[in-house]
Amino acid sequence: MTEAERPPSRPGPSLQYLSGYPAELLARVDTLLAQGSLLDTLTRRHGPPHSMRTDGALYGYVSDIKGRFMRSAVPLSRIAYDNKLHVVRNALGMHSVVSRVQGGRLKAKREIRIAGLFREVPEPLLRMIVVHELAHLKERMHDRAFYALCRHMEPAYDQLEFDARLWLTAVEAQAARPAGGPAAGSG
Ligand SMILES: [Zn+2]
Repeated sequence: MTEAERPPSRPGPSLQYLSGYPAELLARVDTLLAQGSLLDTLTRRHGPPHSMRTDGALYGYVSDIKGRFMRSAVPLSRIAYDNKLHVVRNALGMHSVVSRVQGGRLKAKREIRIAGLFREVPEPLLRMIVVHELAHLKERMHDRAFYALCRHMEPAYDQLEFDARLWLTAVEAQAARPAGGPAAGSG
């Protein structure tokens, strides 16, 4: 399909995580995907994978950011990677309130679970998802107040969220490709 034949604003199935972004932007993404160079482009932009690969390391990393920006927010009972969590389907992470009976009283406990995919991303993309989840401690909905809080913690939040979506798109495209084969639609 040539660019001219492509429907203007409707992303194809490979761009399902990017719906709502401008069509010109998506056309550029499509080109990089077809060339098989999207992941390389993102790695050049954001650097090598971070080193917070265990739940313990993640706990320290999240606690540090929380301590800087959200000291007064509720304490977190658990911070962990979750391989069963799908990053976009679960709205870029999972923020849950777990209710447990403790000493006869019902206590709400906050957990942050980060999709396992984020173990292997450059540090700025991990920072984006952590900021997103921390913001949910105060703002439940994805509304203006929520994004304002995200940008307070990370001024480049919007760019990083877009790039995290690109990363997921690239990883899934790579997984769908036959091993060692050429990029789909290259040339
Ligand atoms: Zn969210």
